[in-house]
Amino acid sequence: MPTTPQQKDYYATLGVKRTATPDEIRKAFRKLARKYHPDVNPNNKKAEEKFKEISEANDVLSDEKKRKIFDQFGFYSDNIDPAAAEAAARGGYGPGSGGHSRGGPQEVPFDFGGFDFSDFQGPPPGRGATTQQESSSWGGFRDIFSGIFSQGQKQRGPQAGTDLEYMVTVDFWTAVRGGTTRLQIQRQETCPTCKGRASTGSPQVCPECSGTGQVTQMGGQMKFNIQCPRCGGTGKLQSSCPTCNGQGTVARTESIDFRIKPGTRDRQRIRLAGKGNAGTNGGAAGDLYLIIKAGTHPVFERSADNVLISIPVTVGEAALGAKIEVPTIDGRAQLKIPPGTQSGQKLRMRERGVPSAANEGVRGDQIVTVDIVVPLLKDERSKEILREFARLNPEDPRTPIWGKV
Ligand SMILES: [Zn+2]
Ligand SMILES: [Zn+2]
Repeated sequence: MPTTPQQKDYYATLGVKRTATPDEIRKAFRKLARKYHPDVNPNNKKAEEKFKEISEANDVLSDEKKRKIFDQFGFYSDNIDPAAAEAAARGGYGPGSGGHSRGGPQEVPFDFGGFDFSDFQGPPPGRGATTQQESSSWGGFRDIFSGIFSQGQKQRGPQAGTDLEYMVTVDFWTAVRGGTTRLQIQRQETCPTCKGRASTGSPQVCPECSGTGQVTQMGGQMKFNIQCPRCGGTGKLQSSCPTCNGQGTVARTESIDFRIKPGTRDRQRIRLAGKGNAGTNGGAAGDLYLIIKAGTHPVFERSADNVLISIPVTVGEAALGAKIEVPTIDGRAQLKIPPGTQSGQKLRMRERGVPSAANEGVRGDQIVTVDIVVPLLKDERSKEILREFARLNPEDPRTPIWGKV
């Protein structure tokens, strides 16, 4: 039985048993990933390779469908239809089961270019005992090949860049009035050497498939051709770009200036289109999202586009009514306190709030909460006046409460 190129044992790679549960696989991968992650091993090629290997193993074994295919065939390829693998598993692709109709190769709609028929011309002399095994293999083979390979060949096409997200803290006034701010971000940029193609120089013949784009794989006792995994079926290989290690992008720290609109709210997301990670092979760049963390103010509190403020008022001003000055985000403004204003009462100052970042020309209000300050009486004259005031106004403010209990 010929061995196949690039046969990998993903179970061994992760150091787990073939019977490992998904949880065991996840744990094994995490443990190894922590050890070999490129962030932990900067400029360590060996660790990088190892990390790629365990990632690939995890990619297959952590996916139930992919794992089934791997278990069934001893390798994994995206070209294998999971349903076909399922059928193969049910149909007994291998020894011990039968029941499939036999058929000649002419009935199988598949390119038999690299298929080795020599083993399937019926039981060879002296090997009668293996007939059952071979016939069942043949049946399974037909099942698999009815749907196993996708048409056409996958090539590495354009890949879009991923989005980035940064939290940006701006002070209260910048969020209210708007402004510009600068941020240092780390993003993947199109590699200047290969212009995002990930490769340099002219294409070489792929050594894996000698330029045919196909390699022979084993599935059970079968030999068949699949798309060459190394060159993706193109038959050609390009040397990977040394600047970006074949990634097509390089990490770069960049200063970004951006505008904060007046009225920007806390937790607001600002999208800078195309400022995320660069794509590869002509793929579009991702977007950059900035999440605004708006600062607070000792006096003004924001509630969406409204400004909330608490204002101390004297007993006289509240009882008799008054015109007082209060701070707003635009400076001092007049506020009329109506006679008989109670503590905790809210007075609305229309359009004295924050300009809306969403609707041009629209402003929120300022909501003033009245906080009546009771005077601390020191002189006898003031106390006498209040005693007289009490005699003139004998009503009990607690009467309504007694009515309710
Ligand atoms: Zn490059
Ligand atoms: Zn190849």
